[in-house]
Formats: sequence, C-alpha cells, structure tokens
Amino acid sequence: MKLSWWEINSWFTNVDYTIVGSGIVGLHAALRLRERFPQSKILVIEKGPLPQGASTKNAGFACFGSLSEIIDDLNYHTEEEVVSLIQKRWEGLQLLRKRLGDTAIDLKPYGGYEIFLDDDTAGYDNCLRRLPFVNDVLRPLFKADVFARETDRFGFAGTKESLIFNPFEGQIDTGAMMQALLKQAVANDILILNSQTVTACHEKADGVEIALDDFSFFTKKLLFATNGFAGGLTKGAVKPARAQVLITDPIPDLDIKGTFHIDRGYYYFRNVGNRILFGGGRNLNFDGETTTEFGETQLIQNRLEQLLREVILPHTDFTVAHRWSGIMGLGSQKHPVVEQLSAHVYCGVRLGGMGVAIGSKIGQELADLV
Ligand SMILES: Cc1cc2nc3c(=O)[nH]c(=O)nc-3n(C[C@H](O)[C@H](O)[C@H](O)COP(=O)(O)OP(=O)(O)OC[C@H]3O[C@@H](n4cnc5c(N)ncnc54)[C@H](O)[C@@H]3O)c2cc1C
Repeated sequence: MKLSWWEINSWFTNVDYTIVGSGIVGLHAALRLRERFPQSKILVIEKGPLPQGASTKNAGFACFGSLSEIIDDLNYHTEEEVVSLIQKRWEGLQLLRKRLGDTAIDLKPYGGYEIFLDDDTAGYDNCLRRLPFVNDVLRPLFKADVFARETDRFGFAGTKESLIFNPFEGQIDTGAMMQALLKQAVANDILILNSQTVTACHEKADGVEIALDDFSFFTKKLLFATNGFAGGLTKGAVKPARAQVLITDPIPDLDIKGTFHIDRGYYYFRNVGNRILFGGGRNLNFDGETTTEFGETQLIQNRLEQLLREVILPHTDFTVAHRWSGIMGLGSQKHPVVEQLSAHVYCGVRLGGMGVAIGSKIGQELADLV
C-alpha cells in the first residue's frame, strides 16, 4: 500500500524510538521511554492484530516460582542467581501493580499451591526436605517464610496428602492487564501499529532503517521486545516454546480458588471465577513444542483433560469451553537477555514462563539501556 504524505509525515518521520513487539515488555519499555523523554516520538510495531506472543495468552499467575521449580533452578544456577531472578520477578510484580493498579489488573491474592502426584515421591520428599532451606534463602527478600506445608482441602485425587502453600502468589486477569497497559500507552502519546511485521533492519551511522512488509522508515533507536521470536536476533540464545492451555465451562459450586503448580511448573491450573484454566504438558514433546507456530495437539490436550478428570476434578463433571496456545521464549539460562546489540539496537527478550511478574521490570531495564 502506498502511504500518503500525511501518513509518512505524522507516523514515520522523526521517529526517536521504535519498539518491536507490543507484549508486556514492549509496552513497559515504551512507557518508561516516555517518562525519560517526554517530547520524543515513540512507535511500537506489532505483527499481530492484538499482541501475538505470550502476553495476552498466558494463565495470569502473578508468581515468582514454585518450590520444586526453585529447587530445580538451584541445580543449574547459583544461589545468588536464583535469588536475584526471584527478586526481579517480585519487584516486577510491584511495578506492574503500581503502574496499572490492582483493580485494573483484577489482582486476587488467593495465594499459590504446589501439588504432587502420587508417583512423584522423590520430588515430594525432596521438596519437603529442602523447604526450610529455601525459606531461609528467601527470608531476606520477603521478611517471612514463603512456603508452608498444608493439608489438601480441595479434594484432589491421586496426589500426596500435603501441598505447599505460598501466600505471596496471586492471580490476575490477563486480558484486563494488557488492555490497561495498551490504554496507558495510547494515553501517553505512544503510537502503536498492529498487523505490521518488522522484516529487516539496517544500521546506519545515526540510526536504523526499518523494513516492514512494503515500507521502510528511519528511527534513531530500535528496541526489540520480541521474546520467543528473538531466536535469530540472539543467535539462538532464545528458543521458542509453545504452551497450550484449556479452560472449562463454568462449574457450579467450584471450591478451588488460587493458582496451582504441578511438576516443577510443567503443569499449572487456577480458577477463573468458577471455571478452571489448565495449561502445560510441554515436557511431553519438547521438540514438537519448540516452535513459533500456534496450535494445539491431541497428545497434550488429552493429557490435560486426563489430569483434570482424574486429579483436579475427580468428582465433578466438566466440559471444555476453549483451547489455545501461546509462544514463550526460553533458553539455557533463566535470566532474560537485556542487551545493547549494536550502536542503535537493543533487546529485552527470553522472558521464560514467568513474564507477567518480571516483564515490567525487563521493559524498564530495556528502556534504561538507551
Ligand atoms: C500459555 C502461556 C501461559 C503463561 N502463563 C504465565 C503465567 O501464568 N504467569 C507468568 O508470569 N507468565 C506466564 N507466561 C509467560 C508470559 O506470558 C511471558 O513471559 C510474557 O508475556 C512475555 O512478554 P513479552 O512482552 O516479552 O513477549 P510477548 O508477549 O511474546 O511479546 C512479543 C511480541 O513481539 C511480537 N513480534 C515478534 N516478532 C515481531 C516482528 N518481527 N515484527 C513485529 N512484531 C513482532 C509478537 O507478535 C508479540 O506480540 C505464560 C505464557 C504462555 C504462552
């Protein structure tokens, strides 16, 4: 499409900052840039009609890691690295709440739980054994014990008698949170262009030439917030990871409230009002789920339904109302990649499975690199 002189002049001339990706990170980066540079022209380019990665697809856990996940992380990262990541998630959550307000994101402080399947005796014993140690490690940050052993009062089946409770965890309405963020961006004079894919960028002495499908323009600085789609940009440091989810129809008298983790976060469920949202199962087919293609598979959806039927809602009839997927960005390390890539190009990517919490912080860090 040939643009008019007006369009070129108003949207694409004298652009100071261009951000690729309108997820949690991209929008927070844009808002932070606005705080720092009130007079600048800020443009966000998004390839989907809505944000189309993870930020509008996720489960809405306001979380920073289940006990088994933290213990697992300690196998691959130092204690300092693990604590610093949890601290960033926690600070990110506070930043999100401060920026948007608890009402706008519909924060519900129900707490989070971890449950253990009967055949996971080793994982269960290990968590119970290391619980006091992890509480010690996290106490300076939370000024209290984070994890406590509790008896299952939800009537799950095929699970160990105790579950682990974390009072600091909550749940949000993902759609409401992203709408609030988009509204705030527009109110702060940030231009958001949807259904436009950045196909190439060429660095010049004083900025970057950005190519869209049938048009190119010049920006002084370019910030990538493309998360799971940043494989090429980061020379493979980020890998896409599809995550599949389902949600049930309303269940009368549903007595489950909170966010729940199973198996080091590979499965997660929560109530959404009187429905259950259930996701996970990527570990059933790591290779197949390492993709930027959206979609659901029988293998994973069947397992989700089986766990719902046999473990989570063993005495309750339910029907599945809807299924979907989203694309996460993972890597060998859990820390996001926040880097200056060249003179005028920056990235804040690889948000992992807990970007709701850490996303705002990473957006801020990305904008502060400029
Ligand atoms: C099913 C699912 C459940 C999850 N559950 C939780 C949870 O409960 N709690 C939690 O904390 N985290 C959860 N996560 C993770 C969390 O959603 C992500 O970590 C977070 O949203 C990442 O935000 P982001 O802004 O970095 O990336 P994204 O939201 O993926 O945004 C990247 C954007 O870049 C755009 N883009 C990419 N390439 C281009 C291009 N070339 N041109 C233009 N635009 C481009 C994409 O369309 C996308 O909108 C979940 C993720 C999924 C998929």
